[in-house]
Amino acid sequence: MSTLVLASSNKGKLKEIKNILADINLTVIPQSEFNIVDVEETGLSFVENSILKARHASQVTGLPAIADDSGLEVDALDGAPGIYSARYAGETATDQQNVEKLLNELKDIPDHLRTARFQCLIVFMRHAKDPTPVIAQGYWEGKILLTARGTRGFGYDPVFWVADHKCSAAELTAEHKNRISHRAKALQKLCATLKQPFLLPE
Ligand code: IMP
Repeated sequence: MSTLVLASSNKGKLKEIKNILADINLTVIPQSEFNIVDVEETGLSFVENSILKARHASQVTGLPAIADDSGLEVDALDGAPGIYSARYAGETATDQQNVEKLLNELKDIPDHLRTARFQCLIVFMRHAKDPTPVIAQGYWEGKILLTARGTRGFGYDPVFWVADHKCSAAELTAEHKNRISHRAKALQKLCATLKQPFLLPE
């Protein structure tokens, strides 16, 4: 069984990633177990930020690493908040402040133009100098509601309308969201690629 370090301190992500990668005999250890703190996300795209995080974790531990970066892309805002989703209303913004800013920016936008999607990029690096990281992308289409609904999830979930289920992402159970979300799709793709034996370390 191979061991990987996960360049994230988020417990929810760890559980989700651990479960899916256990199926292909990979053990995932969070970077916090190595006392690694989050690296600054200075990239200009999700993929750049994921690589920065994975490279740092791999450099410190000497292990292969996995990192993800995700965010919300709103068409009427030319893709904002995008890579700035966590800090849309400021460096120390709460989820609620970010959601309020988003709703305010969209206050004059009619329903049919409120299309949006969550994006997730996951990268796997065999080592810190890996020149060909494995990159998997998943996205989840929706629309931005006029007001928040639901109490589950995090981030922009209460204002993200999931048409297939006629509810907001914050009204889905965690299990349900983890089957259909952008992160789930990216993880499934990564897993399918990592199944190729030559990609994994001995
Ligand atoms: P992270 O860097 O992948 O943790 O995500 C960056 C930000 O994107 C989060 O702080 C949220 O604001 C937003 N985001 C990413 N994924 C989700 C999701 O599944 N639901 C709601 N918001 C999300």
